[in-house]
Amino acid sequence: MLRFITPIVALLLALPAHAAPDSYIDRLLNKPVPGGVAVVDLGPSAQTPQASYQGKPVLVVKQEARWVAIIGVPLTIKPGSQQITAKTSSGTRTLPFTVGFKAYPEQHITLKNQRQVNPNPADLKRIDGELAEQIRAYRSFSPGTPSNLLLDKPVNGPLSSKFGVRRFFNGEERNPHAGLDFAVPAGTPIKSPAAGRVILIGNYFFNGNTVFVDHGQGFISMFCHMSKIDVKVGDNVPRGGVVGRVGSTGRATGPHMHWNVSLNDARVDPAIFIGAFQP
Ligand code: ZN
Repeated sequence: MLRFITPIVALLLALPAHAAPDSYIDRLLNKPVPGGVAVVDLGPSAQTPQASYQGKPVLVVKQEARWVAIIGVPLTIKPGSQQITAKTSSGTRTLPFTVGFKAYPEQHITLKNQRQVNPNPADLKRIDGELAEQIRAYRSFSPGTPSNLLLDKPVNGPLSSKFGVRRFFNGEERNPHAGLDFAVPAGTPIKSPAAGRVILIGNYFFNGNTVFVDHGQGFISMFCHMSKIDVKVGDNVPRGGVVGRVGSTGRATGPHMHWNVSLNDARVDPAIFIGAFQP
């Protein structure tokens, strides 16, 4: 028997030094698929490492004596090898990680308002401006460490539409679903899943009444379709603090809570952070 075990042991010993050691961060957050999260070990470093992916700064946290980068993998990334750049006290290195495959289902939605499927030229101008404003918010990078990496559910209720679903409105394909929906009644308070700072609020064509909360280092939550916003830009929100109420403003077929989570300007599956990810 030993004869058969030995090659396996040898293989384990040969794992590259950059493999992330087992920890709650790896176990719970390392889901390296398009629209998922990659956790990459940066090793020990006397100074706080700086890491970047596709030229954008990445969330870095310390776990015991080591540092790890927590990277958002955009939905548009193809399975295969990717790399980050990391600057630690021992120099600048590139570190690889592998993106696996994930199949996302389709969803067909009927909207009574055809203008929400094919907006008119004035709408398109408005949408462009709103998109630019929201992308700027997603790209902000504040220095603080997030209060918690495992997030609280912003509302208690069943999940309705999952992240990444390819959506067809009245038969026409539009952007995939960039967040997670919860089926909850209008008026339900939406609680911030971690502490953060309100960096943007708006009333948008697609997203309706919207709040962006920056949890630190590009880790950002967005809530939309709200009936009411209870915060203003610059407010510091504690973990569990109410940011607004569930509604159906913008492009929505009924009241629900839509939640985006973004890392390094990549929208990722919020289910990962609440322990509800399905491969
Ligand atoms: Zn949604």
